[in-house]
Amino acid sequence: MYSGMTKSALEWQIKIRKFVDNELIPWEVHAEKNSGNLPSDIEKKHSDIAIKLGLPGMGISKKEGGLELSMFEQMIIWEQLGRVTNALCWCFSEAQDWMEENFTPFQKENYLYPLLKGEKKECYAITEKGSGSDVNGSIKTTAELIDGNYIINGEKWYVTSANKADFFFLQAKLKNGKNKDQHALFIVDKHLEGIELIDTPEFTHTFSHHHCIYNFNDVKIPSNCIIGKEDDGMAYTHSWFRHERLGIAARCCGAAERLIFEATKFAKDREANGTKIKDFQLIQSMLADSVTELAATRVLLFEICKEHDNQTDVKILHAKCSMIKLYASEMANRVADRAVQIFGGRGYMRENVAERFFRELRADRIWEGTSEIQRIIIANSLYKRGLENLI
Ligand SMILES: Cc1cc2nc3c(=O)[nH]c(=O)nc-3n(C[C@H](O)[C@H](O)[C@H](O)COP(=O)(O)OP(=O)(O)OC[C@H]3O[C@@H](n4cnc5c(N)ncnc54)[C@H](O)[C@@H]3O)c2cc1C
Repeated sequence: MYSGMTKSALEWQIKIRKFVDNELIPWEVHAEKNSGNLPSDIEKKHSDIAIKLGLPGMGISKKEGGLELSMFEQMIIWEQLGRVTNALCWCFSEAQDWMEENFTPFQKENYLYPLLKGEKKECYAITEKGSGSDVNGSIKTTAELIDGNYIINGEKWYVTSANKADFFFLQAKLKNGKNKDQHALFIVDKHLEGIELIDTPEFTHTFSHHHCIYNFNDVKIPSNCIIGKEDDGMAYTHSWFRHERLGIAARCCGAAERLIFEATKFAKDREANGTKIKDFQLIQSMLADSVTELAATRVLLFEICKEHDNQTDVKILHAKCSMIKLYASEMANRVADRAVQIFGGRGYMRENVAERFFRELRADRIWEGTSEIQRIIIANSLYKRGLENLI
């Protein structure tokens, strides 16, 4: 129990925990053995439950059809969803507050509301072959304004969920006009002419959501598909990063909680040399370190969520989202490593939750900015804004 818990957040925690325990976790091993896929009726059931709960619009205002939950409540939900492996919690698309703030009426009608109703799914195309950590500097994809349309050219890598999506959020550099070389963010329908799936690489985890490589060759999109102002693309991507970094941190806390729970249960039951392994002090040490690190991470996570809800200066918040993404992802990886160790040989079996999380959590130190990039953001913020603003 977190000391800042509200009644509403507690109700959400209980509700989502039940959804995860009763509906999602029972399908993990099936997903693991079937390339991440579930029977279509089960997949639909999960998605229907999530939509009925209102999860696609958890941060969207009530007037736009969302739940208008605080960031604190949203992360309470994502923490519970993080307890399940194989990305089975990605059974809904999440509309985010920056979309509500910046979409035009046309974009709300055609993309935001369908996301809320589960009628459309989105994916994010930012990374390229030569541009990962250095999003700002090295993106090569261009958008050229010709006769009222933007013409998109480029290749995007690792587009998560692109195999299930209806449209991309695509970041490109403007090729002409007064904002030449600035970054813009576009909505690009996936069925448009000139969009080609180049590859679906295999990754360490077993997810039905692929991380595809797409080519955009003279793709023509109407000018009403640009989000906000032409030169604000990077700002929207930063808003998305902040949200995702908090979400990753919350899911890492959920994963760590599940791992500690399962490893403790196993340690209480398992005997070696006629002794329950829970009584070995080296096992106790691994559990004690794990639970202590998780407790510390949760406090920091929910403090930062409250700062978000109290509208802390966005630049300070940006660094704090990096802090918690860095800390929580590294914590969860340590906890997963210890859990595998506690389970012994069983911890190396794919049907074991520790084995799956051990592989899955590794990406959390890479995507949405690597641990090194988070450290750079934090250090720069320390120099610019001072220690007193970061702690
Ligand atoms: C499974 C998966 C899903 C993904 N999904 C998406 C998605 O949906 N959309 C999307 O746009 N992208 C996505 N990505 C891309 C992801 O965000 C990038 O992989 C990540 O930002 C790192 O970029 P990179 O792979 O090009 O590594 P690089 O930038 O080439 O980095 C390589 C190494 O150098 C280090 N490094 C780089 N710069 C510095 C520096 N200045 N100082 C110190 N060290 C540095 C990095 O930390 C890393 O260790 C996904 C990636 C993966 C693995």
